[in-house]
Parts: sequence; structure tokens; C-alpha cells
Amino acid sequence: MNRKPSDSTWTPQQSADVYGIDHWGNDYFGLSDQGLVTAKTLTTQVPLMDIVQGMTERDLQMPVLLRIENILDAQIYRLNNAFRDAIKKLDYQATYRGVYPIKVNQQAQVVEEIADFGKRFKHGLEVGSKPEMIAALSTLTEPGSLIICNGYKDQEFVELGLQAVKLGFLCFFVIETPAELPIIIERSKQLNIEPLIGVRVKMTSKVSGHWNSTSGDRSVFGLSTSQLIQLVDRLKEADMLHCLQLLHCHLGSQIPNIREIRGGVVEACRYYADLCGEGAALSYIDFGGGLAVDYTGAQSNDSQSRNYNLEEYCTDIVDTLKNTLDEYDIKHPTIVTESGRATVAYSSILIFNILDVTKFEPIELPKIGDDEHQLLQDMREVLACLTLQKAQECYNDAHFYRDEIRELFKRGQVDLRTRSAAENLFLEILQQINKNLELMEHIPVDLEGLKESLADIYYGNFSLFQSLPDIWAIDQLFPIMPIHRLDEEPKRNAIIADITCDCDGKIDKFIGQQDVSSTLPLHELKDGEEYYVGVFLVGAYQETLGDLHNLFGDTNVVSVRLNDDSSFDFVKEIHGDTIADVLSYVEYEPKEMALRYRNTAERAVKEGRITARERQHMLKTYNASMHGYTYFERDE
Ligand SMILES: *Cc1c(COP(=O)(O)O)cnc(C)c1O
Repeated sequence: MNRKPSDSTWTPQQSADVYGIDHWGNDYFGLSDQGLVTAKTLTTQVPLMDIVQGMTERDLQMPVLLRIENILDAQIYRLNNAFRDAIKKLDYQATYRGVYPIKVNQQAQVVEEIADFGKRFKHGLEVGSKPEMIAALSTLTEPGSLIICNGYKDQEFVELGLQAVKLGFLCFFVIETPAELPIIIERSKQLNIEPLIGVRVKMTSKVSGHWNSTSGDRSVFGLSTSQLIQLVDRLKEADMLHCLQLLHCHLGSQIPNIREIRGGVVEACRYYADLCGEGAALSYIDFGGGLAVDYTGAQSNDSQSRNYNLEEYCTDIVDTLKNTLDEYDIKHPTIVTESGRATVAYSSILIFNILDVTKFEPIELPKIGDDEHQLLQDMREVLACLTLQKAQECYNDAHFYRDEIRELFKRGQVDLRTRSAAENLFLEILQQINKNLELMEHIPVDLEGLKESLADIYYGNFSLFQSLPDIWAIDQLFPIMPIHRLDEEPKRNAIIADITCDCDGKIDKFIGQQDVSSTLPLHELKDGEEYYVGVFLVGAYQETLGDLHNLFGDTNVVSVRLNDDSSFDFVKEIHGDTIADVLSYVEYEPKEMALRYRNTAERAVKEGRITARERQHMLKTYNASMHGYTYFERDE
């Protein structure tokens, strides 16, 4: 390990290396000379701390989910542009049309921004349920935009879709199960509207990564080849084979390996060619989602990374498609993808403040007393003769003496003060050993976990279950770093705990410089100064999967737009759930509750426990709390 220089020479670049921001930031985040994290566009950059300052002035308390609209726009632009470039470069004879799958982030502000900015590319929407369909129909405005309907579709869903066709949208029903076809045939004949039909095939190309165990034969989605043949025959019978215009093949989400994507495209082409041979009028090929986000910045085929960039993704799809279909002499179809994660991940950042820190250091080393217990003297001895070579031995001895003291305490043979002195000495010995470990070439097995076991616990003002559910559910890694003070060396090693009372409410896996690390370097807190930590790339999937554990509700949300002169506008803000909100989600009636509390207080007045004035004060506190934020609030 490198010796770190002292504080005065610490540079933001060193912080950039520690936290890897240049690797995962996708050119959207950087560090200023003042040691502040900035959000960047091609023409401007703004310190996140300036935005936090603006939030404070607007009484938007931490935690806050910050959305940067320019980044969302930029991702849509980059995606469409990269496909356009690849199509031009490879002389592909058709176009690209993107759709955004609403399930990845259904928040109205996000979907509306995508629809609005996406207009210029006729960027469409993918829906998987009636509510999403309803949202899409009222959000898209450009005729000719795609609406891709996946999921199970009942009569009503089908009717909505057929009406959308009448309104000028290219609304495709993607058949996922054989049972859907009769409904579509019946409804379209009834309403006299020709449906646009797609078919989802079960891909046998298996892909790796967290989210993709359902690809292959056992996939719950899509038709098997025999079901596919049946579908073609039924459409022929109904004289509707010309309606089958789209082939859908979603390989999975967060596909880390570009070779697997190529493999999937080749397989899809085989289906495409043979369905054309069967007489289907295919003209769209939809590769679904899967474009990965490099959360770790490692550029590897690890499940939280990806071994390709956007340009390669597009080039590989277009190239493979062209070469494969040209062999069969088939006209090039419009390429559709349903990138969700990659579209929205970058634009949201969770920002929270640190409320407190627990350190595993002696609070105070005991002064040597006259009649000090022999075991304490033994521990002092260990401390005195600690060397690099004797680290393991000292470690064992420290444990032995401390455990002895604990045993004696249990039996009433030493007092609380003696035990406390022993615990302090014990921590001092372990801290000293830990310092030595950095100098060791081979760390003894017993001491491997020492750094983690001595790591500070930083308590963050957020709920993991509400705001970062995938960390809890599937060990997802997100880039996490302080958003200021990056011109100072982060000298503490920490894990982060949230404010739910759940032992799972903690983060102890971080993106390290080489590998996953169990601790995160953070700065010592300063008295009277907030310390802000950001969790980055959280725009995909986190918001709706979150739950109300301990009744911590939705956080405040702020959308900003960065301007070219480094200023920024607060374009939207949503105050998070109040306590009344979350209580009513679980069927409490806040009005009735207030009434009951009032009755309890009134009785106390009557029975002489409090005065009427005190009652009034209590009711005020209760009501203010009921209509306040669910998170830890700082007094003004
Ligand atoms: C979830 C899903 C997507 C989005 O996938 P990402 O990997 O997030 O881009 C796209 N299409 C379908 C059918 C999906 O189920």
C-alpha cells in the first residue's frame, strides 16, 4: 500500500482515484479543484453542494433524491445518436427506434421528461400492464411513436391498444402466451381495427448476470418454437398474418458480456428469417433491454459492470443483424431496443447527511491506578511490547485478557469501571495492530477481518429499504462517496448504517480501487458542519421497489436543470411522504388518531396530570410531527 501524503498535499485527483468517479461517472460527474463533486454537461458543470445549498434554503430536508434532467436527456440523445452512427457507418438500410420501459422508473416526472425530450427521435414507451399503458397514452404526443405492450393483456388492455392505433401510435401487442391471441383477434374484428402484432420468442442463448437466471428454456416469458408455429397457423386462419410485424427477444437485464448480446442477435435473426419465410410481414426487430450500466467502473464482464461501451453495443447489434440477414437476403428491419436501466440510472443521486459515528477506538485510556487489577497490567504489557512480528501473538493475548475480565465481571469479581478500562485497552491494542497490518506483506488469517471489525459506523439519514432496496435484496453495488471535502484525505474507514432499526439496514460492500471493499474511506466529521454522502446511479428500479420499512416514506425529490452559465434551476420538487401519508398507506386514519390523542390529553387535564396549556402544547407537537417528514429532521 502506498504511503499517503499529509493533508496539505492531498489533491482532488487522489480522491477521484479512491472513489473511482472517473470510471463510473460516464462523463456526467467530476471533481472540482475545490474538492466538490460536480454534475457535468458538455458545456457546464455545477457542484452538487451548490444544489444542496439551494435545497436547504427551500426547506427541502435530507435525504433528497436529486434528479438532473440534463443527464436524462443526454442519455436518450447518446443512445439514439449511437445507433444512428452505427447504422450510417455500416450502411444498414433501416432506422432505429428506441422505447423506454416504464417499469424501470415509473415516476411521472421521469417518464414525462423522456417523452418530451425523446420527441425529436420519436422515442416511444414500453408498457407491461394496464396502469403503464394508461400512463403511456397520456404522455406520448407524437403520432408514429411506438408503444410496445408486453405482459398479460386482457380485453380492456387490448381495447386501449387498438384505440391507440386509431390515434396514430404504432402500438404493438407482443404476444407472450398463446392465450392472448384469441382476445386480440376477437377485439380487433369487433372494433374493426387492424392490430399490430409482435411475438416474443423464448431465447435459448443464456446470458450471465444477476437478473438473467430466467433466460433460456425455463424463461417464464415468450413462446416456444412449437407455440410459435401454432400462432402463425392461427393468424393465417384468421387472415391476419400480415399483422405480425415485430419480433421481440429480450435477453435479460444488465448483460455484462458483449459476446452474449451478439449471440442473442444471431439467434433472433434465425427466428426473424424463418418467420419471414412463413409469410409474416415482419419489419421490426426488438431486442428488449439488457444494455448494462458499469456500476463499478471496472469495464469487466462482472455482473455489476460491462465489457463494452454504448458505441460497441450499437455497432455489434447493427453489424450482426446486417451480416446475418444479408445471408438470407432479407430486407433490413427497423431496430428497436427497450433500454431502461442505461437510460435512467445516471440521472438520479440519493443524497443524505451523516447523523453520528460510532468508532471502535478507546474512549479514554485508563490511567494507571495504584492497585490496578493484574489483568489490566497484563494488557498494558501487551500494548507496550507490540511489534510487527508479534502482531498475531498480541492479538491472541488481548482477546484472552479481555475475555477473562468479562468472565470475572459476570461473576461479580471485577466492577464496571475495571471492565470498561479493559475494553478500552483492548480496542487500543487492536487499533495498534491494525496500523501495523498496512506494513505487512502477508496478513495472518486471523487478522484478515480486523480492518472491517474496527471500521467506523457512519449513520446516514436514509432508509436502505426505501431508497436503495437492491443493496439489501441482491447485493447490488452503487458508487458511494462524499460530495464535498474531496481536497482532504479521507482518513476514516467506515461502513454506513441507515436509520431503520433493522440490522440489515447497512451498507458494507463498496466499490474499491481494485475490487469490492468492505469499508469506505470517509472524512472525520467536523463539529457543527453537515457531512453529505451521495449514492450515485440510482435512477433505475430503486424508487418503486422501495418499501415502507419502519414507516420511513418517500424522500424529497428535486429535479434540476443545469444551465450553460453554471447556474441551475429547480424545475420540480416533490415533498416526500409525511407521517400522516405513510400511516394512511397502512390504513390508519390520521384525523381520527389526532382526535383520540386529543381525548387522552383532555382526560389528563381533567385528572390533573397536565394543565390545559400543556395539553395545547402537546397537541401542537403531535400535529406538527404528523404532518412532517418521516426522516431525521435538523432543527432550524
Ligand atoms: C425489464 C425490461 C426491460 C428493461 O431492461 P433494462 O435492462 O433495464 O434496459 C426491457 N424490456 C422488457 C421486456 C423488460 O422486461
